[in-house]
Amino acid sequence: SSTVLRAGTPGAVRWPPAVVVQLLVGGVSDPDHPLPTPTRTVVMSQPGIPASGGALTGLQAQNGAASASGSVYTNGPVQNALMSSQVSVNQGYNSQLPGSYPHLIPAKTLNPVSGQSNYGGSQTVSPLSNYQGPGQTLYRPPVASNPVTSSLPSVPVPRMPLPTSQNPAATPMPSGSFLPGANIQPPLNWQYNYPSTGSQINHCPRSSSQPTISGNTNLTSHQYVSSGDPSLQNNLTKSATPQYANKNPTMSRSVGYSYPSLPPGYQNTAPPSTTGMPPSSLNYSSGPQGFTQTPLGANHLTASMSGLSLHPEGLRVINLLQERNMLPSTPLQPPVPNLHEDIQKLNCNPELFRCTLTSIPQTQALLNKAKLPLGLLLHPFKDLVQLPVVTSSTIVRCRSCRTYINPFVNFLDQRRWKCNLCYRVNDVPEEFMYNPLTRVYGEPHRRPEVQNATIEFMAPSEYMLRPPQPPVYLFVFDVSHNAVETGYLNSVCQSLLDNLDLLPGNTRTKIGFITFDSTIHFYSLQEGLSQPQMLIVSDIEDVFIPMPENLLVNLNESKELVQDLLKTLPQMFTKTLETQSALGPALQAAFKLMSPTGGRMSVFQTQLPTLGVGALRPREEPNQRSSAKEIHLTPSTDFYKKLALDCSGQQVAVDLFLLSGQYSDLASLGCISRYSAGSVYYYPSYHHQQNPVQVQKLQKELQRYLTRKIGFEAVMRIRCTKGLSIHTFHGNFFVRSTDLLSLPNVNPDAGYAVQMSVEESLTDTQLVSFQSALLYTSSKGERRIRVHTLCLPVVSTLNEVFLGADVQAISGLLANMAVDRSVTASLSDARDALVNAVIDSLSAYHSSVLSSQQPGLMVPFSLRLFPLFVLALLKQKSFQTGTNARLDERIFAMCQVKNQPLVYLMLTTHPTLYRVDNLSDEGALNINDRTIPQPPILQLSVEKLSRDGAFLMDAGSVLMLWVGKNCGQNFLSQVLGVQNYALIPQTMTDLPELDTPESARIIAFISWLREQRPFFPILYVIRDESPMKANFLQNMVEDRTESALSYYEFLLHIQQQVNK
Ligand SMILES: [Zn+2]
Repeated sequence: SSTVLRAGTPGAVRWPPAVVVQLLVGGVSDPDHPLPTPTRTVVMSQPGIPASGGALTGLQAQNGAASASGSVYTNGPVQNALMSSQVSVNQGYNSQLPGSYPHLIPAKTLNPVSGQSNYGGSQTVSPLSNYQGPGQTLYRPPVASNPVTSSLPSVPVPRMPLPTSQNPAATPMPSGSFLPGANIQPPLNWQYNYPSTGSQINHCPRSSSQPTISGNTNLTSHQYVSSGDPSLQNNLTKSATPQYANKNPTMSRSVGYSYPSLPPGYQNTAPPSTTGMPPSSLNYSSGPQGFTQTPLGANHLTASMSGLSLHPEGLRVINLLQERNMLPSTPLQPPVPNLHEDIQKLNCNPELFRCTLTSIPQTQALLNKAKLPLGLLLHPFKDLVQLPVVTSSTIVRCRSCRTYINPFVNFLDQRRWKCNLCYRVNDVPEEFMYNPLTRVYGEPHRRPEVQNATIEFMAPSEYMLRPPQPPVYLFVFDVSHNAVETGYLNSVCQSLLDNLDLLPGNTRTKIGFITFDSTIHFYSLQEGLSQPQMLIVSDIEDVFIPMPENLLVNLNESKELVQDLLKTLPQMFTKTLETQSALGPALQAAFKLMSPTGGRMSVFQTQLPTLGVGALRPREEPNQRSSAKEIHLTPSTDFYKKLALDCSGQQVAVDLFLLSGQYSDLASLGCISRYSAGSVYYYPSYHHQQNPVQVQKLQKELQRYLTRKIGFEAVMRIRCTKGLSIHTFHGNFFVRSTDLLSLPNVNPDAGYAVQMSVEESLTDTQLVSFQSALLYTSSKGERRIRVHTLCLPVVSTLNEVFLGADVQAISGLLANMAVDRSVTASLSDARDALVNAVIDSLSAYHSSVLSSQQPGLMVPFSLRLFPLFVLALLKQKSFQTGTNARLDERIFAMCQVKNQPLVYLMLTTHPTLYRVDNLSDEGALNINDRTIPQPPILQLSVEKLSRDGAFLMDAGSVLMLWVGKNCGQNFLSQVLGVQNYALIPQTMTDLPELDTPESARIIAFISWLREQRPFFPILYVIRDESPMKANFLQNMVEDRTESALSYYEFLLHIQQQVNK
């Protein structure tokens, strides 16, 4: 087993502290989609706007440094608004006029003559014409009236001109307008003596009463409108939301209230931890905010480490060889930044935005010394119970760096605020002087923008370069023999039928369908037809779109036809013998169909694509599954990535549902989603009869998928305080310019991570901030900007850096880095780097912080779980060795690491174990009259199991209930509904709902666990002799396996390396 670790050897693998890892591997060269230069982002490099804006258009004035004037459509309608320069304009919309969606313009320019004949020639009557709906006619459009012909332009669609300069209007920021780093203290006479509005405002609920995810939550948007004119103060919208009251009885007092100047509903689903969690960590979710602008300066820290000094536990040094059980029995809480309480209570919810180090090292040298990764983990579009939404004619942003005004800016006086990212002093616009919440003039610091770290703006027209796109949903179905065998079409079509009215959208929503095997089938759903019409294109070498205007149709107008099609589709191909799969050409066709508008493409695939572009060959070698060497983690073709970049340019995201029992090369296929900001779903061995739990899983996950919130044509930018620099991004997106993430779709279940370095010394500042701004089009066609701002202290000593380490965020970021390393180097390199991350940081702690050499493995309290989590990562499906994991499953796990919010990643990595045969109501949560037991969390070791009990392991996407041989009769009969152990079915994936308190408790607990995540964990009930028991034991991270160390052995290894 010692081969598992190569750590500490000379030349061992490490992550250089600030290396620029090129995000996009594979070296695609496509002139339309230049790869981003992996440069370090210097946030401050954006020039300011010229002092005189007379010559600027409104847009330019709004955006600071403007894009080239006259470029109607640049890359995405919006990015200029988020950024002030570096617009890549190559991704032109093929639309001549703003607002037109030229469906008639095919993406490809054809010679009319050849186009015509080509069209006629490839239009064939399907040999599989089982589509015998009542009165069904196979549609072969007469060439003479070919609508395509007339719509084919004979000249190329004009592309946008390149701007003459990226920043034609930009001038350098006036020097001397501020002193970077100088902390200008508020004048002494500047006091906010206005009466607190806090008493009028309800507390944000203790989130323990909140289900974290409530389906496709309609946000409780407390929206107000401010025109800036005090005389219009009645514009304050009182938004009472009934759902709000229902979902959350404890908040009912606030219903009907004008505007809670509170952070959005934070959801501490865990009861206050008694282990290692300072009580002040709860501050951010509670308390009225009778806020007095705290001087964000020298006194941001109370004397001597305020938070930590109150909680000596946090200052403890722990010998892990003596105190091995450091796992808290309640969910681990993120550390609380060591900030003044008045600042911290305004800080961003760590579920949305957190940093690996809650105390930012002052210099890169200090960061290097700590050997800990510096980065951010984001869940920017998470469903929120409560989100302040601001409609204002002026969105106040820094004139220099375009940061949105936020709770951590410094008001120098009533008329001036200093940017917390670039330190520029900005004027407070007249409009901002009026606070619609308090209806008082002259208190800009009480505006919701300055009271909420998370806020959403309704974007005015300046943030649009074309009208917001309609919601467009295109479904692409594999209907080959293999696909039909799985029976998935039934489930998917039924799910679509059930949720058709719940698809996010409005009267503009469009929908379309494509099916494919060796040919591509389109479906005309034009209003007025008596039934859907199928069009088959057999020319997969040169794909074109027949009748483009009738294939993506308005859902409202063609709903009956859509329903007809969904009812017919599962039967249409039941007798097919076609085994080939032309996935690549089908994707090309789908892309062309969606190019004019953008939207979401949902692709269902059940096998390796075999025909046309993008065809793949099997390359998995089952014998090498358990080896860490030479496995195929990289794509075998650039096709899917290139197409994804094309999609991204046209605001199309591709979600891939892979339902396959065989190797399907997810490493290649997954690129289609990764670079287009889509999602990957994987259902290995899906079969409608043989694998009913997968059917249930698909159905539940489709329901979430189809109905969850969606943002279209989105871009996200992350800014940070001058001196810090973001250099690597993780997640599903395309980096459009140096730091602008292109997200054709954004969904509430996607997470992102970035790595940072300290470019310039932060010695002159005591606080730094990070701000993410996500600009998107809602399914209702509104342009919105969701902004999160996180504020953290800067520290100058290594000990402080260690004390503020967030071990979950660190582990999450390391996992992302390890996926990159696996792909660019090898799996064993990645594993070594993970181990070295622990050794290096703990060595640094030993040598630089601990004054004397002490025996044992001494770790700061903050990192007490670091070795455990890294060991768990080594045993995680992405990085494990010595198992027979399928290659596609490993790739899928890696996709999940990259795309999942931290909370789910941690659950997959280090599952939670509970004893459940003795659940009680003690300490239970009470949610909407439901009592949810909260059993203590156990260490992942068989030592914690006993044969007379039953144990539930929550591993994220799977729940395993292991029932011991001598489990009490009570549990068997009252929960499992069987009279004795032998009667427990071999395959049991559901608990019966029995009329017993024991049954009610465990069912409530399992439902509650499931409700908190966007995917549906399958439940397996496992008897002692069941083959599934091996899966259960495999997750026992602390135990030794054939190929992996036990936790104790791992600690010894670390200690040995540290004390070298
Ligand atoms: Zn600024």
